Amino acid sequence: MKKFIDQQNMKQSNAADVFNLIRESGKMTRRDIEKQLGMSWGAVSGICARLIDEEYVSEVKKDLPTAKGRTPSYLEVNSAEHFAIGIDVNRAGLSAVLVNLKNHIIGRWTADSDFSSSSILTESVISLIERITESLGSHRIHCIGIAMQGVVDSESGISYSLPGICGWKTLDVVTPIRKRFEIPTYIEHDPNCILYASKSDFTKDTMLLRIDNGIGMAATLNGKIIAKSGIFEIGHTTAVRGGRPCMCGRRGCLEQYVSMRGIEKASYLEFSRLAELAREGDEKCIGYFDEMAEHLGLCISNTARLISLNDVILCGSICEYSDLFLEKLTSYVSENNSDVKISFTDVENASFGAALIAIERSLEQIDV
Ligand SMILES: [Zn+2]
Repeated sequence: MKKFIDQQNMKQSNAADVFNLIRESGKMTRRDIEKQLGMSWGAVSGICARLIDEEYVSEVKKDLPTAKGRTPSYLEVNSAEHFAIGIDVNRAGLSAVLVNLKNHIIGRWTADSDFSSSSILTESVISLIERITESLGSHRIHCIGIAMQGVVDSESGISYSLPGICGWKTLDVVTPIRKRFEIPTYIEHDPNCILYASKSDFTKDTMLLRIDNGIGMAATLNGKIIAKSGIFEIGHTTAVRGGRPCMCGRRGCLEQYVSMRGIEKASYLEFSRLAELAREGDEKCIGYFDEMAEHLGLCISNTARLISLNDVILCGSICEYSDLFLEKLTSYVSENNSDVKISFTDVENASFGAALIAIERSLEQIDV
């Protein structure tokens, strides 16, 4: 079992626990829930009643009565007609998934993204949601989750910045969507969403780096994603004192040596062309990948030591070029931290993770 949020309210936390237990078990009686979660009969009955009212679960009678003549009933997650939508808002485009309450992806959609103004972007997100809801008829959408790059405040639903978009102003992403569809809507930083969807449990602390035109980071600690607006701006930590100028106004930021945009600026070559030349053996081009592997290796081993973890997940467009840097990266990391293991995941998990986090958050809103 994994959780995203620090639950303040024990009853709401218990509602999420009960729902997750029913989902993971397939079907359960109230007595089973009482035993497995160590909760009182009254608490289990109250929470199950609210989950049934809100249509997260339904009750199915057992076929045969017990020895005492009672016919107890199972609780099952409503997966056939109840869904969540997850959307990844990315400069490369919008991508969406429809997820049932058993966390299975039912459908995928894509749309172009236009970042020329915040209102145009909001409208394009709304029209994508309209396409999905129109295809569903009377089926119910419980919640919408939106994954966004940049600085995101998931509590207030506000996007404070988007990388590479000049003049981006504080944008309330959530309110227009909630008003238009009357569905609980949440936003979350995209690396958090990818990490949430990529791990089946959070028993081992993990960090994730998304590297394409910038560097996004997420990490778990003590079984939970560390969630705070503006946290882990690792791309703008200093790698080289007085080094290459960065769009943030400082010099020598890690992003300038590790991200695709940073390397493109330094090499004056499109990234795909740079990789092509490196694969053909051009030493100068190979040098950019070696330099990238060294900076990234130091960053990973230092951060892993700092927050004491050994699992590192990489994702983003840079992974298409791993043949040019992975061997060196692994050796730089293991020089300092031999226990660190590097694996890869897909950024498509951003929209899926956004939907899963939205389900968890919507459960927390249930008034028990
Ligand atoms: Zn910077």
